[in-house]
Amino acid sequence: MAPSSALAIVGGEPLIKDRFPDVFKWPVVTQEDEEAVLEVLRAGSMSGTGVTKQLEVEFAAWQGAKYALGHNNGTAALHAAMFGCGVGVGDEIICPSITYWASCLPALSLGASVVFADIKLETINVDPADVEHRITDRTKAIVVVHYSGMPVDMDPIMDIAQRHGLKVIEDVSHAHGGLYKGRKVGSIGHVGAFSCMSGKALPWGEAGILVTDDREIYERALIFGHYERHGEEALLTIPELQKGAKLPWGGYKYRMNQFSAAMGRVQLRHYGERMAEIQKAMNYFWDLLEGVKGIRAHRTPRDADSTMGGWYNPKGLYCGEELGGLPVSKFCDAVRAEGVYNCSPGCNSPLHLHPLFQSVDVYGDGKPTIIARAARDTRQPEGSLPMAERMLASCFHVPWFKKYVPEVIELHAAAFRKVSENAAQL
Ligand SMILES: *Cc1c(COP(=O)(O)O)cnc(C)c1O
Repeated sequence: MAPSSALAIVGGEPLIKDRFPDVFKWPVVTQEDEEAVLEVLRAGSMSGTGVTKQLEVEFAAWQGAKYALGHNNGTAALHAAMFGCGVGVGDEIICPSITYWASCLPALSLGASVVFADIKLETINVDPADVEHRITDRTKAIVVVHYSGMPVDMDPIMDIAQRHGLKVIEDVSHAHGGLYKGRKVGSIGHVGAFSCMSGKALPWGEAGILVTDDREIYERALIFGHYERHGEEALLTIPELQKGAKLPWGGYKYRMNQFSAAMGRVQLRHYGERMAEIQKAMNYFWDLLEGVKGIRAHRTPRDADSTMGGWYNPKGLYCGEELGGLPVSKFCDAVRAEGVYNCSPGCNSPLHLHPLFQSVDVYGDGKPTIIARAARDTRQPEGSLPMAERMLASCFHVPWFKKYVPEVIELHAAAFRKVSENAAQL
């Protein structure tokens, strides 16, 4: 029987009738993870650091970094990275407006302010051309986010940072193992911070990790949230930090739970293989959709020596004008009706418009926190970052295939193609 072209949302037959849980299941937890976690449980060493230190050595080697420091989540790792870079009272950081809040919000508790840069619609990443003019003498760091696995164009970012004496913090929470021109993301800037919460591509339970080659950043991160390690020999070599050792300067306790460290060691061992299968599956999905009207892949060119890592939370780019102006929400409704249950419009909302970056007084300063200690009013009104403000209507979520099962991938691609080819029915 030839498939009907009547869209399911207007009464046709849905293309997909199964959910294929094995293809989408994440995280993959095996007996090896269970045994590693049980070992920690039986030893009662959940609050220790021995397993975490083993993980740090292995992760640093995998990442090609000198130092790795485990954290209880990615937000903490980013907070410590900012402190590590010397971000403090009255300083500014530059961050793309389209990202998860943890890429920048911890700066406020350091007394710093956030200046948002616009993004490029094709990459959903910071537009390097929109960064430099935002730099002032208070700018300390640029945060970049490899959004949904897409490596940021790091060469111009590093060039800008070098010319202005700024630090670059890579938020690698979407791009574990990704490559930019053959180099692992997270080790290109001065410091990288990863979330390894359970939904991420490298899932360790609830955890984060910081990597750097810079001894000062590493030691500042240690003094900030890891008081229990200050007594370890040769850990704090900077005299100024040694003076204040034994208490966490931030008043934060950022140690990783060793259930996560144990799971992390197992997950890391299998990640290369799992990532390769995801890459094969996702690239096949998009190969099947080349040339389909209204949608474009959000992926790196196949010949560029750059990859999408574990393709966290993968997106497609939406070009509604090719479908008679059909809004992305209607497009996604129709794809979901065909049985693609995880197709929804949008991405993270532009942060610069949120009240926390405009008007909320968090700490009782009597003025909005975002400008409470700033040298100038850094707030950015609606209309100031046009691409970021368009992004929600210009992308959508696509299925995140964890297994390369061609029939299943073909079926899902067929659903997108069917909606595109029959968009006139909507
Ligand atoms: C998930 C995420 C984080 C925060 O990590 P947690 O482990 O949830 O604290 C930071 N940045 C980005 C871009 C994220 O997606």
